[in-house]
Amino acid sequence: MFEIRQFIDGEDVPSASGVTFEDVDPATGKVIGIVHEAGRAEVDAAVAAAREALTGPWGRLPTERRMALLHQVAARIEQRFDEFLAAECLDTGKPASLASRIDIPRGAANFRIFADLVKNVPTESFMLDTPDGEGALNYALRRPKGVIAVVCPWNLPLLLMTWKVGPALACGNTVVVKPSEETPHTTALLAGVMNEVGVPRGVFNVVHGFGPDSAGEYLAGHPGVDGVTFTGESITGSAIMAGCAPHVTQVSFELGGKNPGIVFADCDLDKALEGTMRSVFANCGQVCLGTERVYVQRPLFDDFVERLAKTAEELRPGAWNDETTTIGPLISATHRAKVLGYYKQALEAGATVVTGGGVPDLPDDLAGGHWVQPTIWTGLADDAAPVREEIFGPCCHVRPFDDEDEVVALANDTRYGLAGAVWTENLARAHRVAARLEAGIVWVNSWFLRDLRTPFGGMKHSGIGREGGVHSFEFYTELKNVCIKL
Ligand code: NAD
Repeated sequence: MFEIRQFIDGEDVPSASGVTFEDVDPATGKVIGIVHEAGRAEVDAAVAAAREALTGPWGRLPTERRMALLHQVAARIEQRFDEFLAAECLDTGKPASLASRIDIPRGAANFRIFADLVKNVPTESFMLDTPDGEGALNYALRRPKGVIAVVCPWNLPLLLMTWKVGPALACGNTVVVKPSEETPHTTALLAGVMNEVGVPRGVFNVVHGFGPDSAGEYLAGHPGVDGVTFTGESITGSAIMAGCAPHVTQVSFELGGKNPGIVFADCDLDKALEGTMRSVFANCGQVCLGTERVYVQRPLFDDFVERLAKTAEELRPGAWNDETTTIGPLISATHRAKVLGYYKQALEAGATVVTGGGVPDLPDDLAGGHWVQPTIWTGLADDAAPVREEIFGPCCHVRPFDDEDEVVALANDTRYGLAGAVWTENLARAHRVAARLEAGIVWVNSWFLRDLRTPFGGMKHSGIGREGGVHSFEFYTELKNVCIKL
């Protein structure tokens, strides 16, 4: 049983109120740790420490030295790989085979890539003609935005947190991180890494707790914060925006999705099946970029549904450190109740349950966990709740379509606009459909193939702004123009 406190100004700090909450292993339902909940006092102290560090040693550090420290952070995560892996898997229940390929390596890579990018980003300059013929030189300077609040979800805890902390620190900001109450562990480990490699005190701070009336709300609405970067549900984004409005705090949001996968009859069927299977069931369906609506061109429909169901039935639930495990549990009892609620609604709305629809039989040691069966439906109306609302579970609805115009209209008929996957061997069609989809990210003949230099984010209710590569610098820096009359 571990105990996690706030990390403020380089120190572990217990909550002044003495209030704690439990960290639960989703695979067993057992308590694995105790976490101190931050109140307003701890959030104030963390923001003050971040402000102090901004103009202190961190602000004065030469860029080369700052980048070297971030490289050391990445290297230290890799040295402590097994510890990060176990912490992440215990908090989320995800199989080690997944987290060791994606979550932990990306946690390290997020520091390296942004450290390298910052050194190589040019800014613009213009020479202006003036009536006296001497001219004026305009040039742009990038400056850190200031104290950044980083509010994180539970589905990819280390990966998504460092996706924001990496560029924020590379740009010279300081941060206060609020990890999800479900997954505090790897953020706490990262705090230790910051001290080990000598990142100055106050640069990286962590407050633990919940959202409303707790650390999340106190931090995101704090007047001492210069920017809020948030990943989570769209409805939480709205609440955070309202809290930011009085101080006109800038936001960068990566929010929910209800992503379409479009399978044309001219696709490579094996590739389309494999990719769709991953996009629906990876991380037990708890991936913002995952596919919950699958559209299959009519000639392929029956065959595709049958084969997709077979892949779902082959998934093996189990303990995170069992090498044969290919699917983990949902994150919490609350989330499981929500997902099972959609399973029930789908039945009531007349769905054909092709596979799953319930809870799996598991050995006694896992019986208390938050497990559900991978599930595939057909036959739902386009306006049924399981087709329109983000479920965030291992399930999808598969619907036939006839032509390109029809499927583009169906795919875009949603308030979300995060991602889409298109499966076709027709090059012209691939470009046409990719351009017409209302989504921030479109994959053609792949899914979750990520290049960290590319813009990442969503349209419509799926986000505000883009992070990734140089696009992160739009949010994490302020651009200033200097005009010099010659
Ligand atoms: P959530 O919105 O419930 O919580 C996210 C974080 O916000 C948590 O740390 C929570 O404590 C905090 N929070 C909640 N209410 C708050 C408030 N009023 N003020 C301040 N903070 C508050 O999301 P979740 O359930 O942790 O994550 C799942 C959601 O995240 C899904 O909707 C998923 O699509 C989305 N997501 C999006 C992306 C993306 O890149 N677009 C990536 C991953 C997850």
